[in-house]
Amino acid sequence: MNKVEFQNSETIVNLCRAFLLESQNGARYKFMEEKTNKEKYCYLTQMVKKASDRCFQEAKVFYNLIEENITDSSIELECNDVYPFRKATLAEDFLYSADEASLARDEIYPDYARVAKEEGYIEIANKFEFMYQIKDCLYMEMIEIAKRLENNKLYKETKSIKWKCDNCGYENKGKEAWQKCPFCDFEQGHVIVKIPKKEQVEE
Ligand SMILES: [Zn+2]
Repeated sequence: MNKVEFQNSETIVNLCRAFLLESQNGARYKFMEEKTNKEKYCYLTQMVKKASDRCFQEAKVFYNLIEENITDSSIELECNDVYPFRKATLAEDFLYSADEASLARDEIYPDYARVAKEEGYIEIANKFEFMYQIKDCLYMEMIEIAKRLENNKLYKETKSIKWKCDNCGYENKGKEAWQKCPFCDFEQGHVIVKIPKKEQVEE
């Protein structure tokens, strides 16, 4: 298959879009920290911090792919894109994050992967395809937290489960997590919220 010249390809523009998308996702998760901190959800703060770091690392992968493949020392790319801005509660932020993750998983990255294949960039297509699993994982986290916050059940369960303090590691069973950790006295917001597992990698 003849490769489309990189600098004239749609793939380079899609790499640029992916870089911008994940950079702004990284910023958005970073901004969510303000809200999780305000509510004293320390465990959620760790979660959005991690999500932010990961998005920036993903952005770096796409950035590097552009850098590695261009022949000129510098280029300027134009890619028209739209980005949402909203007033949102913390629960809504998680819900929007879930929506964005599923859109990236189901539409954006599959489309970029298809174009990269058509243009003869198989390795780049593979990178886009890896994003399906990454975004699926993110979706699972975000939707779980969104649902729990919406129903005011971040630390409540219908059945007794094991809760774990993320600060000291203390564990105990109950339908609801403790208000204050009996061992380290840290507040409920430090208790780990379990995300239901889905088998990610087929055997
Ligand atoms: Zn503790």
